[in-house]
Amino acid sequence: MEPGDIRAAMIRCVRCGQCRSVCPVFLVKKVESDSTRGRVTLIRALLEGEISFSEELGEKVWQCLLCHSCSQECPSGVQVEKIILAARSKMAELRGLPFSKKVLIQGLLPNLKSLSKLMALGRFLQSFGGKEVPGGYWLPSFSLPLFSSRVLPRLNSRSLFQMVPSEAPFIPRPKGRAVFYAGCMLAYGYPRTGKAVVEVLYYNGIEVVIPPDQVCCGLPALASGHRETFTRLREANLRVLKRVKADGIVTACPSCGSTLKEYYSSELQAKIFDFSEFLVAADFKPPDREWKSVVTYHDPCHLRKAQKVVRPPRRILASIPGIKFKEAADPGRCCGFGGTFGLYYPGLSREIGRARAGSLLDTGAEAVVTSCPGCMLQLADSLYRQQSTVPVRHLAEVLAEAYGFHKPLTAKEVVRPG
Ligand code: SF4
Ligand code: SF4
Repeated sequence: MEPGDIRAAMIRCVRCGQCRSVCPVFLVKKVESDSTRGRVTLIRALLEGEISFSEELGEKVWQCLLCHSCSQECPSGVQVEKIILAARSKMAELRGLPFSKKVLIQGLLPNLKSLSKLMALGRFLQSFGGKEVPGGYWLPSFSLPLFSSRVLPRLNSRSLFQMVPSEAPFIPRPKGRAVFYAGCMLAYGYPRTGKAVVEVLYYNGIEVVIPPDQVCCGLPALASGHRETFTRLREANLRVLKRVKADGIVTACPSCGSTLKEYYSSELQAKIFDFSEFLVAADFKPPDREWKSVVTYHDPCHLRKAQKVVRPPRRILASIPGIKFKEAADPGRCCGFGGTFGLYYPGLSREIGRARAGSLLDTGAEAVVTSCPGCMLQLADSLYRQQSTVPVRHLAEVLAEAYGFHKPLTAKEVVRPG
C-alpha cells in the first residue's frame, strides 16, 4: 500500500468501535490503544504528524496478530491488516528490524539449507532432555531463545521432501494434477501431516507434484515489514510454481494459502486451493472406516476470515463415519498464535490461547481438528496448559486415518499434561 492508499483506508474508519468486540488483543488487554480502533487512530495521527514515533507506539503496531477478525466485522470495510502491514513496512524502512527478526527473516527463511540445519540443531537440543509430551510434542526444560517454554513438535529426522517423492507414482487415469505447496511448517515441523496431505490426494486419484526447491511463502517477512525479503521469496516460488503444469496449487497451511491467493495468484495460471477446497471440488471419496469420536473444528483465521473457506472442512468431517461433530460457541475465535507474534509476545499469546482452548473444551469434544500447523502448535500448548488430554489433529491426518493409511493415536499418545 502506498502512503496515499493507507490514508484513504484509514479515513474510512468511522471510529464506531465494533472491531473491539472481536480483537483478541483488546479482549485480553482491555486498553483502547491496544484495540483495532486505537491502532488505526495512532497510525493515522503519526502519519499526519500529530504525534511522533516512540517505542511504545511501535509495540502497538507489532502487537497485532493480523488475524482479519476486525476487517471481517468492520461495517466500513476498513482493511486493518493492510494498514498494519504498511505501518510495519515503514517502521522497518526507517528503523531496521530488531536483531532476532533480522536473523530469522533475512538469514534463515530465504535459505532452505539454513532451515534444514536449524531442524538438525533442534533435534540435537531435543536429545538433551526436556519433557516428552504425548501426541508427538516436546516441552523444553531449558530456556530456548524465542521458544522458551512452549510445547513444540518433536522434530523428525527427515523433512517432508525426504519423506515423499517429488512426483507421486503414476496413476492410470488421474482425476487431476496438483502441485503441493507445503510451506515451512509442514515441510519441517509437521512432515507427517504433509505426508498425509499427499497420501489423501493420491488416494483420491490426484497426481501430486511436490517441488523440492519451493521456499517460504514470505509471510513472516511481509508481516515483519521486510518487503525486500518477501519479494525475493515470492519470485523464487513463482519460478518454481510456473514450471509445473497442474490443475491447482494445493496448500494445507492457511497462512501460506492466503499469501499465495493474495500476492501470487495474479501471476499464476493454476488456481490456488486450500486442501479441503480442492478435495471437495475433486468430489473426494468418503472414507469407509470409522473415526469414532466427538470432534470440534477450530477455524484458522487465515482460512475462515482471509480465504472465506468455512464449509469444506466441515463437509469432509461430516463424511467420516463415526464422527459426532460439535460446533464451538465462537467458531471464528483466534487461537493467539499469529506466527512470530506467538514468539515475541508469549504471555499475551498464551492468554488468547487459553480463552480459545476453553471454548473448544466447552463443546465436550474428544478431539480438536483444524487445518493449520500454526494453530496445531498453539492449541497443543494451550490445551496442555489446561491439563487437557484432548488431542489436536490436522484434517488431513484425520482423513488419512479414516482411509486407513495411518495408525490412529493411542490413548497414551494424545497430548497429556504431567
Ligand atoms: S469497526 Fe471499522 S470503522 Fe469501526 S472503529 Fe473498527 S476499523 Fe473503524
Ligand atoms: S488483525 Fe486481529 S489482532 Fe490485529 S487489530 Fe485486527 S482483530 Fe486485533
